Amino acid sequence: MPRVDTKVVIVGGGAAGMTAAISLAKRGISVVVLEGGVYPGAENWSGAVYFCENLARPEVLGEDGLLQMPVERRVIQRGLLVSDGQVAVGGSVRSRAAFEHCYTVLRPVFDHDLAQKARLHGAEVLTGTTALALIRDGQSVLGVLTDRGPIYGDVVFLAEGDAANLVGREGFETKEPEEDGLARPEFLQGIKEVLTLPPGEIERRFDVGEGQGACLEILLRNGTMGGCEAPLNAGAFLYTNRESISLGLVAPLENLKEVGVPHNRLMEWLKGMPALEGLLEGARSVSFGAKLIRGGGWKEMPRLAMDGCAVGGAASGIGVDFPCPNYTGPATFMGWAFAEAVAELVADNEACTQEALEEHYVSRVKASQYLDDVHSLRDWPAFVSESREFFGAQVDAVTSVADAATSGGAARQLVAIRSLCDATFERRDALVRDLRRGGSALGLWAGARADLVSAIPWWIINCLIGWFPRRGREEARFVPHFMHAGDRPRRPMPVSWRYARWVMAPGMAEALFHLYRNDGVRLSHKMRLMRRAVLFRLSLFDFILLPMIFVLARLVGLLTRRSPVDRRTALDVVAEATDQDAKLAWITYRSDARTHIRFHAAHDENGLSDDSSSSLFHICPAHVYQGEHDGGGSTVVSVLHENCIRCESCWRADDRHVDWGRTRGQRLVFESYTSADAWLRESREGAGLAAASRGTRTPDDAADLIDRVALEEAVRDAVIDGLGRVGGHAQSFCALMGHLPSVLSGADQTLLEALGLEVLRGVQEVAQSLSSHESEGLSSRARALTEWAQLASPHLRSRRFFHFEADLELLRVHHLEDLRLRTGLGLPESSAAPDDAADSRRVALRAFLEQRLHRDVIAASEAALAPTAEARQTLLEVAAALREEGTTAPALPGSAGRDAAIEEVARLSPPLAIVLAGHLAA
Ligand SMILES: Cc1cc2nc3c(=O)[nH]c(=O)nc-3n(C[C@H](O)[C@H](O)[C@H](O)COP(=O)(O)OP(=O)(O)OC[C@H]3O[C@@H](n4cnc5c(N)ncnc54)[C@H](O)[C@@H]3O)c2cc1C
Ligand code: SF4
Repeated sequence: MPRVDTKVVIVGGGAAGMTAAISLAKRGISVVVLEGGVYPGAENWSGAVYFCENLARPEVLGEDGLLQMPVERRVIQRGLLVSDGQVAVGGSVRSRAAFEHCYTVLRPVFDHDLAQKARLHGAEVLTGTTALALIRDGQSVLGVLTDRGPIYGDVVFLAEGDAANLVGREGFETKEPEEDGLARPEFLQGIKEVLTLPPGEIERRFDVGEGQGACLEILLRNGTMGGCEAPLNAGAFLYTNRESISLGLVAPLENLKEVGVPHNRLMEWLKGMPALEGLLEGARSVSFGAKLIRGGGWKEMPRLAMDGCAVGGAASGIGVDFPCPNYTGPATFMGWAFAEAVAELVADNEACTQEALEEHYVSRVKASQYLDDVHSLRDWPAFVSESREFFGAQVDAVTSVADAATSGGAARQLVAIRSLCDATFERRDALVRDLRRGGSALGLWAGARADLVSAIPWWIINCLIGWFPRRGREEARFVPHFMHAGDRPRRPMPVSWRYARWVMAPGMAEALFHLYRNDGVRLSHKMRLMRRAVLFRLSLFDFILLPMIFVLARLVGLLTRRSPVDRRTALDVVAEATDQDAKLAWITYRSDARTHIRFHAAHDENGLSDDSSSSLFHICPAHVYQGEHDGGGSTVVSVLHENCIRCESCWRADDRHVDWGRTRGQRLVFESYTSADAWLRESREGAGLAAASRGTRTPDDAADLIDRVALEEAVRDAVIDGLGRVGGHAQSFCALMGHLPSVLSGADQTLLEALGLEVLRGVQEVAQSLSSHESEGLSSRARALTEWAQLASPHLRSRRFFHFEADLELLRVHHLEDLRLRTGLGLPESSAAPDDAADSRRVALRAFLEQRLHRDVIAASEAALAPTAEARQTLLEVAAALREEGTTAPALPGSAGRDAAIEEVARLSPPLAIVLAGHLAA
């Protein structure tokens, strides 16, 4: 299909989308950005340390432009700690050189400002506009279907962020599908709060100057639930803003499902940790939210290009979670790379085919440091979600030793060191395995042998000159962290520890400098530099002294017979100072009366609902799903869709129970908690959409594309007839979707599915009629319709009804419109949509029953009902009575006829009516 204009359509006004938009608009290439939020950033809930090196490129904002952005603080310190809750220990590096272009930002403010810059350069940013599907002709993407109409463009950039709805629905995923045919990528869930502090407190507590920021990542020791180890494997982050702190947790979604700790309790646990007391004392929570992060890394990267479409940003899974979290760097890079690619193709007058995008865009991404980093960490996601030692015994060992070094007397120190020995000796197999796996997943062991050999001369030299300070980098300073409850008495650090710090600090400073440096050095090389920074500063003494301390402690520990401290926290007894409902009230909602969530109630063979085991009841951070036992063995589920904070975890956690639609009008705003009013910053809400989409496909404008085909009468009749039915069923489907409640019974699901199947059948019949006509134009239409059905059918079969609803809209606004333009056919109008829910149900059913009843539909309905032999017999009797009596049906009290009887039954149960109608037709 020929294209109508040269516009670039970008889905998502986040880091990747806006970088691309600014860069394209600056070159005079017309670009439309579709942003579902009320304004760009309104729903963006990341940390965040924003890595701005790509924004600083001259093609985007430039260094001067970047300086005008509303950042919170410039990062000058970053570090890594481990914590058991009582104590947090670790180190950070302070350096201006390492953190080039790293800023803390509040995303609602920063993203909005970035969008304003894009607008100033001429990009069209349509807010409150959700992309529902790609408009395609076969494998070629022609544009985007939005909830406000279709938009056509030469190329589409999918930069929709982590949840990657469209990447999934449009078949970009490369992960192997499971038994039911669906691919399920791995995700992490991020939960975050913002806490304000009085002016000057950030500077005092973090020892930073005005405008300078510190960021800490903390590996958290797993706690217990019901006395058992809770394998959460969570990391925390703490970033300083101007007058607030962003504090959050990130854990694999699968682990959160398994453990089932309520989100609020997790946050309250984190906030209440004695180890963080000194930093958080008096801080006031003002904002709360959660979001998904794609976690599968390299192994689950989707396809990045197809004809007319490229994928970028977090939707591509390119980002680093550990050891130096960075997602915005790769996202902005991909935005920039996409714009470069399009500019080159436009300059060469070349189409944005898959090959062209592979060559100009994907190859750039592949050659980048960001992809190399993701590749070198390809085994890390699996290690994080499975490791128990890394979030358990190893944390115990480090924190107990650190704790002992700074508090208590000699006995306590020995007990602590003994627990380290215990951890080392008694769990040595697990530890060695974990260290080996973890280290190789981080790329620490690659080339380690050669480094060890080359370090030996240094160990001898350092042994000889060991009393001289082991010098480090001028521009990097190591800051050790021993954080603990403020009221615990602390001893001055023993001389041995001070000596160790003196010996190790320069090496640690250099190692951390390499880890965090944001100057394009690849992670694989950073790991090598880090290793050498530490190894080359050791001396032979260190190898003798360290084991001696271990042996001594073990001996004394055995003699004293004191058991090691249990450092786990019981998560089930954490007190929640602020309850979750109060936190949810901080978010501004714009709800739609219609639901954007469908809970699919399941039933076992006895007719009892089988939903109690669903992880939804605890995976949702907004209490949207509520399940109660009804006393009869069933779970009664209610869905409070208005509470949804759009983290998109539920349908990723349990897509068998839940269908979640970006399609509905529910919107929200994470308040930006600055003096600027979020609503004032909202502007031009989708005003340009009509202009952008109109003019692309009106019959007049597109006259040169129309090759009107004279249709033979038989084909014409078959097509009109088929399309009439397709339209009726599609309309019934959409009417039902609008009116059904959030919890869909098995009967409702069957009815929707049956209506959808009828649409698919009808489309296939129309496609067949068209292909029987000898016209190239019509065969291509027939092909397009068949391909549409092939894409839509899995959505229906997996009961992703929101996706299917979008498919129907795509059929209506694109495929049928195209057919009308090509054939000049006046396509049949479907009957008007019903007014209320009861009507829509009946009209839908009548429309359905008026058509042929296919056996498999009846069978499906019967299977959903699973009637007993007795019920089936009654049904047959009712059908027989109705048949005998013709159109009057005295057998059914209150019924005036066969149709009315079916309608009555439909009120009770749509599938029952289908089965009854099937018996009548038999
Ligand atoms: C708790 C948390 C902490 C994080 N901390 C950091 C950090 O400190 N540093 C860092 O680098 N990264 C961090 N990240 C990750 C980072 O936020 C993202 O990876 C990054 O924003 C990705 O940029 P993007 O442009 O791909 O997507 P986003 O910035 O997420 O932008 C996507 C945009 O698309 C819109 N959208 C989505 N679907 C549609 C649709 N169908 N139609 C229209 N609009 C749509 C969304 O509303 C959103 O505005 C964090 C994430 C979380 C959850
Ligand atoms: S309903 Fe789903 S998307 Fe909404 S807050 Fe709950 S888990 Fe997140």
